[in-house]
Amino acid sequence: MSPTKETSTNPFTLKERMKFPHQPMPEQAAELRIQNFGEVNLGYTEELARQEALRCLECAKCTCVEQCPVGVDVKEFVKLIVAGKLLEAAAKIRENNVLPAITGRVCPQENHCEGACLLHKKVDPLGIGYLERFVADYQQCVGARVAQKAPATGKKVAIVGSGPAGLSAAGDLVQKGHKVHVFEALHEIGGVLVYGIPEFRLPKQVVREQIDKMRDMGVQFETDVVVGKTVTIDELLEEEGYDALFIATGAGLPVFLGIPGEHLNGVYSANEFLTRINLMHAYEFPLYDEPIVDLRGKHVAVVGGGNTALDAIRSARRLGADKAYVIYRRSEKEMPARIEEVKHARQEGIEFRILTNPIKFLDDGRGWLGGTQCVQMELGELDDSGRRRPVPIAGSEFEIPLQAVVIATGTSANPLIQSTTPGLKTSKGGYIEVDGESQRTSCKSVFAGGDIVTGGATVILAMGAGRRAAKSIHEYLTTGEWAENPIKS
Ligand code: FAD
Repeated sequence: MSPTKETSTNPFTLKERMKFPHQPMPEQAAELRIQNFGEVNLGYTEELARQEALRCLECAKCTCVEQCPVGVDVKEFVKLIVAGKLLEAAAKIRENNVLPAITGRVCPQENHCEGACLLHKKVDPLGIGYLERFVADYQQCVGARVAQKAPATGKKVAIVGSGPAGLSAAGDLVQKGHKVHVFEALHEIGGVLVYGIPEFRLPKQVVREQIDKMRDMGVQFETDVVVGKTVTIDELLEEEGYDALFIATGAGLPVFLGIPGEHLNGVYSANEFLTRINLMHAYEFPLYDEPIVDLRGKHVAVVGGGNTALDAIRSARRLGADKAYVIYRRSEKEMPARIEEVKHARQEGIEFRILTNPIKFLDDGRGWLGGTQCVQMELGELDDSGRRRPVPIAGSEFEIPLQAVVIATGTSANPLIQSTTPGLKTSKGGYIEVDGESQRTSCKSVFAGGDIVTGGATVILAMGAGRRAAKSIHEYLTTGEWAENPIKS
């Protein structure tokens, strides 16, 4: 099915549309959901989706589309919902986004399409993420097949890493008729989508369904392959006959605070904590007996204010934590987490200790965490990130009793591939350097994108990089030209 431009069937004037209330997302009640790992957001019904879609102003200049890193044609897919052509709406989204059921759930729309929605100048923006999720789930539910691909080109592309950057590139390249093989170090496909983001925000089944669709399209996946150890980049290109290669290995290396007491039992990196819960099934205890410290009745904190921090602390709450704190050194305004996650965390009884910084973890006398010593902060001048720098207030130290703490203040690049690929140029922080939008690296036939280039970012930005890389790889494979590259090894 290849939908063309839909004529508007919205019978309402712009004034009337402005008056329609935004349809909230039905959700599990907070007191119930803290006792399970089931999805918080339950999804629109067909009726709710149509009501929300009718609010679209169908602007001549679609700022929402301009702000989408993968260029989803929002106006057209929303018009198709209004017209009741739901499968065509799903196909319209899939022209630019191979993972709509995922982005509809976790993309920070407030920073992209919804942030740019003209309705937002006066009222709530259009619920674009909720609508995207609705049509993607509808397509899955009725079992519709995805678009056909182009005839085989005979070219082979290797993709290293199966997170959103790798998957997005794989989807676009296979559509263009190339043979695509994805290598993944872990035993499950999906990157952060499966090992980081918990079930209550992004059910693993949803990720698996999207990946199955990609398998149907012809993408081949191989797990338990650590590129740089099992096989090198040079071997893939020179011995295994790949014509091009895309590195999409993310930035999953934990970063610690470097404060006293970080070695104590009960101190986790967010990466370890969430991997134990998600990938090793601690969330299905007692069905899976994955060792994680028993959090029932305990006081637990997370340090950090991003999506990772909130996922960790909301998971701890579901695993029985009695008191659950977010310790964040700036104010709530600077928190990088999605607005919806902060709202949901508050509803679940998470306490926010903002303008607070831990300076020491305290031993309970038996080698386990007993608490943390913190200092109160205030905001000073702007720093390099454009946010006001947090500055400690002298003499404001205080303690919080805790039995577990999760450090979620950021991650960095895993150096394995960089150190085993001669000539691959990296920045000081170990991230791979690319030639602007082309995503080309300093090594011929090798492209890179996603968190391994930008540092920890978002699903949709990683997908945008995957799409750009796919476009450049396709050009390279069809022309055979590797133009002068300003990135020199
Ligand atoms: P990743 O998703 O990290 O995938 C990289 C993959 O490469 C991994 O599967 C890894 O195992 C594999 N790999 C690494 N090295 C090798 C190797 N040598 N050989 C083979 N495979 C390798 N963003 C949002 O937009 N919304 C959210 O709500 C959100 N929540 C988040 C919650 C958590 C807990 C975390 C950690 C991040 C969250 N993010 C969110 C950020 C987002 O998930 C990342 O920006 C995005 O996943 C980056 O995609 P990627 O493809 O670059 O890397």
